[in-house]
This record gives sequence, structure tokens and C-alpha cells, in this order.
Amino acid sequence: MIGFVGLGNMGGPMSSRLVAAGYEVRGYDVSPQAFATFDGVPATRLAEAVTPADVVILMLPNSDVVEAVLDEATLRPEAVVVDMSSSEPMRTRALAARLKNTLIDAPVSGGVKGARNGKLTIMAGGAAGDIERVRPVLEQLGTVTRAGDVGSGHAVKALNNLLSATHLLVTSEAILAGEKFGLDPSVMLDIFNSSSGRSGSTENKWPNFVLPGTFDSGFGLRLMLKDMRIATGLADQVGVPDPLGQAAVDLWARAAEALDPGADHTEIVNWLRKDESR
Ligand code: NAD
Repeated sequence: MIGFVGLGNMGGPMSSRLVAAGYEVRGYDVSPQAFATFDGVPATRLAEAVTPADVVILMLPNSDVVEAVLDEATLRPEAVVVDMSSSEPMRTRALAARLKNTLIDAPVSGGVKGARNGKLTIMAGGAAGDIERVRPVLEQLGTVTRAGDVGSGHAVKALNNLLSATHLLVTSEAILAGEKFGLDPSVMLDIFNSSSGRSGSTENKWPNFVLPGTFDSGFGLRLMLKDMRIATGLADQVGVPDPLGQAAVDLWARAAEALDPGADHTEIVNWLRKDESR
């Protein structure tokens, strides 16, 4: 039995895939709206979902919430906890050391679309044998790569999002400049996508969420900023200077202050368009 905590933009479709694969899934979320699309057995209290579970999957906003949930939870001694949230690697290591249960970090990339179609990239941290125990469950959600010991998945996930956010920012600056010059954004994207400037931002985010004006990737701007800060914090902790990453964090932080709390991360483009004081 799987206890699934956090049925939001990602946890909702991920848990549905596990139900569709034939697992008994008991889901819990603090938000009643999150149950609207949940296909498994809804739990009204955390304990109903996690106490009987063999595998406890967490898909929560951040390390604060992950730790609060695990502090409150009573688990079977043999239950494996899989934190698929984008949490802080150093805190994950410390959590694994104090938790009685086995903890694996397995954050993901691939967005809501990847969650729906089981095409997530899953970056697992933990002992190889522990990851093997939960591999059949994780493989319903995507492709699993062991990043290293516990905390490694969370480290590489944050570093990936620092890259992704920096790409999106500089791609947007380039396209806005090209537009002012008189270039058509879709023509620019076609050319970038067969040239060396291509990235997930030129291949996916701009064509699918920015150009149509929907800004509905399902990944919040504040969650992206959280991940960027985890990555620059990691660089700081290991003593590697990252002035470009810091500059990107400063810009995203200003966008987060200016935009609605629930803004999608692709709305950074609207902020760039409006912010004339830069
Ligand atoms: P979300 O805000 O849509 O979902 C989080 C859910 O956790 C919400 O439904 C919320 O009510 C619930 N929650 C909060 N506190 C809780 C608690 N104490 N107990 C139970 N439930 C609680 O966020 P999301 O977009 O699904 O992201 C989840 C995690 O995955 C984050 O760490 C995010 O950075 C990461 N992530 C998101 C995406 C994406 O595209 N959305 C992609 C990769 C990774």
C-alpha cells in the first residue's frame, strides 16, 4: 500500500498513475480542493494515509513541510519514505540520519505533462539497494537514475532548476530584444531550436506557455525561486562562487515580489516586459 502526501499540481497526476497501475493508494492533502482529481482512497487525516503504508511518497512544497509531515507521522518500521518534492539536500541528509525509516530522495523534472504521461526524469538519492526496493513504483512515474547517496537527488534537482531558470531569463531577454528590433518571436524560436541557443525554454516553455499567452505550465514562480536559492545555497556551502546564478536569483526574487503569489514561473516574461526600471 502506498501513502501519498501532497496531491497538488504534480502529486495529483502522479498518484493517479499509481492507481492506474494497480497500486492501492491512500492520499492526503491539507487542501480539500486537491482531492477533486484524486483517484485513490482519500484520507481525512495524515495517519490514515501513511501509518498502514509500505511506501510513503511525499510531493510537498519544501523541506519545512516535509519535515513537519514526518514529525507528525507514525510509520511502520519497514516503510520506505520517498521524498519526491524539491527539498534542500543538506536538510535531507540530516533528516535521513535522524529518521528511523529508510529515506530516499527522488525529485523529478518534466513538469505536469511528464507527471501525467509517466515521463518524468527521477533523480534518486540513497543506497542502491534501497532505491531498488521502490524502483517498480517509481518506474510507473518515469525514468529513474541514481544520482548518489541520500540528498544527491535533491542537489542535482536544484542545480538543474538553476540552469532552467537562468535559461528562461536570458532566452526571454533575447527574444524581447529581438522583438523590439522587429523580429518575429516564433521565427526566432524556430531558428534557435535548430541552433546552439536552444534549451528547454526555447523548445518547450516559450512555444507552449508564453507565445500562446496561457502561462499555465503548472510550476509556480515561487517554487522555481525556492529551487534556485537551494542551488546557490549549495554552491555557497561547498565554496564555489556563482555570480551569474546569484544575479539570476536577484532578478527572479524581484519578479516574485512584483507578481501574484500564485503566478506561474513562465510569467517571468510578463515581469520582464513591464519592468522598465531594470
Ligand atoms: P503544489 O503547490 O501544486 O502542491 C503541493 C501540495 O502540497 C498542495 O496541494 C498543498 O495543499 C499540499 N500540502 C502543503 N502542505 C501540506 C501538508 N502539511 N500536508 C499535506 N499536504 C500539504 O506544488 P507542485 O507544483 O505539485 O510541486 C510539488 C513539489 O514538486 C515542489 O517541491 C516543487 O518544487 C516540485 N516540482 C514541481 C514541478 C511542477 O512542474 N509543478 C516540477 C518538478 C518539481
